[in-house]
Amino acid sequence: MSSTVNLAGIGMTSQRTRERLVGRLLEQGIKHWGVLDVIRSTPRHIFLDEALAHRAYEDVALPIGYNQTISQPYIVARMTERVLEGHPNLDNGKLAKVLEVGTGCGYQAAVIAQFAHKVYSVERIRPLMEKARRNLRLLGLHHVQCKHDDGSLGWKEKGPFDAIIAAAAPQEVPQELMMQLADGGRLIIPVGGEDSQELCLITRHGDSFDRQLVETVRFVPLFIGSLQH
Ligand code: SAH
Repeated sequence: MSSTVNLAGIGMTSQRTRERLVGRLLEQGIKHWGVLDVIRSTPRHIFLDEALAHRAYEDVALPIGYNQTISQPYIVARMTERVLEGHPNLDNGKLAKVLEVGTGCGYQAAVIAQFAHKVYSVERIRPLMEKARRNLRLLGLHHVQCKHDDGSLGWKEKGPFDAIIAAAAPQEVPQELMMQLADGGRLIIPVGGEDSQELCLITRHGDSFDRQLVETVRFVPLFIGSLQH
């Protein structure tokens, strides 16, 4: 079961535009009702600058400054669905611990937080991480912890994780992330060059890792070993 975000004091946008977005996600094959409900109820407009807020319920990635984007709702829904569906460690619809690499403005973190008891998220651009913290606090999602760091190294002290969601694409899957998966844990990550990547779902079974291709996607690159202040 998913918990809902605290909407007190947050302007509601028209229910119709949100329903239209959910309709589009259904058409594109998103089947997880919990995920669709959470996308419907999570106010994506608060993650955007005022000038772009009117486009918040379009199924597109949008700029958030610093050359980065808020992920497309379809991608957030697909990654969340693939991580949750049939996961062996679900407890009442929730995972114990999830790591996100690439917080951006915090939208994916807000969505997965409604299916997790604890979310850790790492962002390499400090002002974005600070903005995400404010957004998540505004929604009352106090069980999401963000830090400014190089997320390609994961967050070892907090692991192992039932799921790791990477919102930026490396050329190859960082070993560190695979090693921080719990047994049965899943890592979903776009892998490849700047123009297009394959979204990979990696599942840990003891010391072996099963790899499935989900679909072709386009994410911003995952920087390795560099921080922006
Ligand atoms: N999760 C966001 C998507 C943000 S875009 C959302 O829900 O919309 C991906 C983010 O990954 C960018 O903010 C970028 O700065 C960040 N990023 C890229 N390389 C990183 C790294 N090595 N460590 C942490 N964050 C990184």
